Amino acid sequence: MFAYSGQRSTSTLEKCEECGANIKQRTATIKTPYNYGLSGLSGIRLSGILVCRCSRCKSEYPIIPRIVELHSVIAEHLIGKPELLKGEEIRFLRKNAGFSQNEFAALLKETASHVNRVERGTTTHLSPAADKLARAIVTAAKDGERARRLLVALAEQETEKRRRSMPHFNLARNRWQLVA
Ligand SMILES: [Zn+2]
Repeated sequence: MFAYSGQRSTSTLEKCEECGANIKQRTATIKTPYNYGLSGLSGIRLSGILVCRCSRCKSEYPIIPRIVELHSVIAEHLIGKPELLKGEEIRFLRKNAGFSQNEFAALLKETASHVNRVERGTTTHLSPAADKLARAIVTAAKDGERARRLLVALAEQETEKRRRSMPHFNLARNRWQLVA
């Protein structure tokens, strides 16, 4: 499971990490939620938690208990949404399921650079078929480490297949030879 820098699960903060000024705590409520931009997702709001807030520069540092559970609840919400996944949502789901961009691309039969562009929002979406497959993959991986390892092995097979379909010739001792 992953955590972004700046996230803390239990410890509180005395001084602002940005400017060193004193910190005040506030409780994020349903009316005054905390915007969880640290997740890499825009528009996710959290409440029922304490947020340390800098009295000078207004930087906020949330205290997020049970973060693994929170991330799996967010993932479940994203997997169930009827619209195509946005790039930032794909990135969140992929990281939450523990896949590298290369592994994920191989499983989707997409190039890593395409997945990278989708995640950064340069290309808007995956194709509807790849979007469905992405959800199936992260769901399977969520159901256990064994399923994740199996999927990683499949990704390796796919990468190897791609490598073999790109013959590589090396000139050594004045002879051209196929690199095994
Ligand atoms: Zn500050």
